[in-house]
Amino acid sequence: MVRVRFAPSPTGELHIGGARTALFNYIFARKNDGKFILRIEDTDVSRSKIEWAEGIQKSLSYLGINWDEGPNVGGEFGPYFQSLRKDIYLKFVEKLINEDKAYYCFCSQEDIEKEREQAIKNKVSYRYSKKCRNISIEDAKKRLLNNEKAVVRIKANQNEKIIVNDIIRGKVEFDGSEVDDFIILKSDGNPTYNFVCVIDDHLMNITHVIRAEEHLSNTPKQIYLYNLLGFKIPEFAHVPMILAPDRSKLSKRHGATSVEEFIDKGYLKEALINYLLLLGWSIGEDRTIISLEEAIESFDLQKVSKNAAIYDINKLTWINGYYLKQLEIDELFERMKPFFIKNNIDISKFETSYIKSVLLLVREKVKTLVELVEASRYFFENSFEYEQKGIEKYFTNDKLLMLKNIIPLLNQINDFNRDKIEKVIRNYADSLGVKAAEIIHPTRLAITGRTVTPGLFEIMELLGKDMVISRINRAIEKFYKE
Ligand code: GLU
Repeated sequence: MVRVRFAPSPTGELHIGGARTALFNYIFARKNDGKFILRIEDTDVSRSKIEWAEGIQKSLSYLGINWDEGPNVGGEFGPYFQSLRKDIYLKFVEKLINEDKAYYCFCSQEDIEKEREQAIKNKVSYRYSKKCRNISIEDAKKRLLNNEKAVVRIKANQNEKIIVNDIIRGKVEFDGSEVDDFIILKSDGNPTYNFVCVIDDHLMNITHVIRAEEHLSNTPKQIYLYNLLGFKIPEFAHVPMILAPDRSKLSKRHGATSVEEFIDKGYLKEALINYLLLLGWSIGEDRTIISLEEAIESFDLQKVSKNAAIYDINKLTWINGYYLKQLEIDELFERMKPFFIKNNIDISKFETSYIKSVLLLVREKVKTLVELVEASRYFFENSFEYEQKGIEKYFTNDKLLMLKNIIPLLNQINDFNRDKIEKVIRNYADSLGVKAAEIIHPTRLAITGRTVTPGLFEIMELLGKDMVISRINRAIEKFYKE
């Protein structure tokens, strides 16, 4: 049975790179009728926070990347927070020490620093001198009882190359010297990542380790530990990095990078999932729109690219616009509610059917929920400002005079619908011998404050006759010069 895991360190929000790793694991599990496990790697106590762990879970749940085992849902291989598994790790440390496969090292930070400086002088890469290997276990225990600080190191004896058979990258060879006497337990009593990762992946019966490329260099050490502990080695697949458009490391200066930020900016989970799918994998045929279901059917780890994926916000935004237009209106209405609140638009006075009609009309022109809320504002508020460039162009006296004259014509319409409104406006323009646009633009600015909107006649129908006339009057009062 396939068992995969996503193992975030809770040191920040869920980054899109992390979300992509989680998604690939999730899809791989679903495709193979396996299990997807969430494990929180919070052994680095100084950097981990429970709030981050909760935030990561929230973001995953929002995206629909649900785990079969892990925090909240439990499972028979728990606990799923590494901070709750310390006893387990310490037992393995002890076992390795007793088997003479690991040892206490009492070298101070300064000792290590000196060795490191010497290595730099000698122009060789630094490796710990192994001098504490000679301390007998009895002596070491005495020194510990005397409150001396020690770390625990692996006794590494790797002469041959270590080969990682990576599903995505193929055979990757590492020199045996990559595995030095590395630390598995720090002097503060906390075990290190490479060690706990191996223990947990083994105890949780993980069959495939699918993770970010940056961990490829940790893999030889982990393979060494698997062998040392007599554990079966899982399959590895290292997914490519995600780089900024300038091929630099993706960071805050490139805009939103966490799932939470994207949600706040009004991106839909469907679009995020679709976009994440494209970061390193493709279903072929130059397809951009792919549903999660389709991905589960066709996903193939071997087809994931070795090359870095380039993050492209414009593509994500385009995809978002696509899904925004596909969303069921009831669903869109629900998802918009928090955005109205956050943007201080009070929709409580309006009928649901009116709000939905507004959303249906305005969504045609926007790509995110934040854009949608802003572009809908004039449907719910009267005290909007007018775009300056529009005022100069469309609120000249001659145009305002036309607006003045159109009011009685609009007033005469009994059934105030888009077709009737259009007819009245076009007839009026004909009667003056001007283009309809001459009237449409100023009217648009008067009733919305904007120069670009969805179809004017639809907007007028939605706002209703009284509102339209009162807004036209307001513009005339404000801008007509006697
Ligand atoms: N905790 C590691 C990280 O957040 C995950 C390492 C792994 O998947 O093995 O990068």
